[in-house]
Amino acid sequence: TIGMVVIDDKRNVATGTTTNGLNHKIPGRVGDTPIMGAGSYADNDIGGAACTGNGDFMMRFLPSFHVVSMMKSGLSPGNATLTAIQEINRFYPGCRAAIIAVNTQGQHGVACSGMGTFHYTIHGAEYDQTTVKEIQCI
Ligand code: ASP
Repeated sequence: TIGMVVIDDKRNVATGTTTNGLNHKIPGRVGDTPIMGAGSYADNDIGGAACTGNGDFMMRFLPSFHVVSMMKSGLSPGNATLTAIQEINRFYPGCRAAIIAVNTQGQHGVACSGMGTFHYTIHGAEYDQTTVKEIQCI
């Protein structure tokens, strides 16, 4: 999956995703990527989130919606993404999952599991250049 969270200069929030799907998927599988709340979710008043990894898990937990809901309750993007990943791992330890999130203040957070090191890019806020960052997964 390529997942994006974008906030424009009028503070409109948009998310988008694209994917090849899982390896060896059965014909006709839709997956999580185009499903709002699973693949991604945006709320103009709060921010947005997008996921990658095994979409069969994402569709059970709706982590993009969960992350935006937690940010609405006051969690930072970092704490919200980590909480959502921990919740999936409570049932599926070590599953391949990653979530990126940005709030309307321009703060971002990323968490992942089962992927070793996860790379992502950020542009804007304190980053004038597109910057590649990485985190270690749980
Ligand atoms: N989430 C996608 C799927 O399960 C796989 C991916 O990360 O591209 O279809």
